[in-house]
Amino acid sequence: MNAVDLHGQDELRELYRELILDHARSPRHFGGLPGATHSAEGINPLCGDKLTLYLRLDDDGTIADAAFEGSGCAISVASASLLTDLVIGMPVEQALGYFDAVTSRLTGSGAAGPADIDLGKLRALDGVREFPSRVKCATLAWHALDSAINRRPAPASTE
Ligand code: ZN
Repeated sequence: MNAVDLHGQDELRELYRELILDHARSPRHFGGLPGATHSAEGINPLCGDKLTLYLRLDDDGTIADAAFEGSGCAISVASASLLTDLVIGMPVEQALGYFDAVTSRLTGSGAAGPADIDLGKLRALDGVREFPSRVKCATLAWHALDSAINRRPAPASTE
């Protein structure tokens, strides 16, 4: 790797940092969701992040709309914002594929997740892998997504 590549990586890191800050400051799809068919609460006691994710599913299993509300650190809010942005218009199976891909990528659990998934902007969350406690902030909304779709009764907790 030469100096130019390193510079490129720094630039990418900066872009991702900006993306996270932008979503944390101005979360997309923030608020309640009238007509929601699925919802789940996510709690990360270590950091104090608490959010509720709402989904409105069409009869054919497409996520017609998504929203979230709650409070948490910048990473947890940005992750939920990116999530809702991503999954609207997506079949639930595909959204669950992203759940697998994001959680396994960030926790380094080995499984690479479905190979055909393009993480795109979600790569902005990669930075948390260096900080194990922040991984829970970044994956919280994704666990809530899984809970909402699969109608798990208890709040999705990172503990
Ligand atoms: Zn947090």
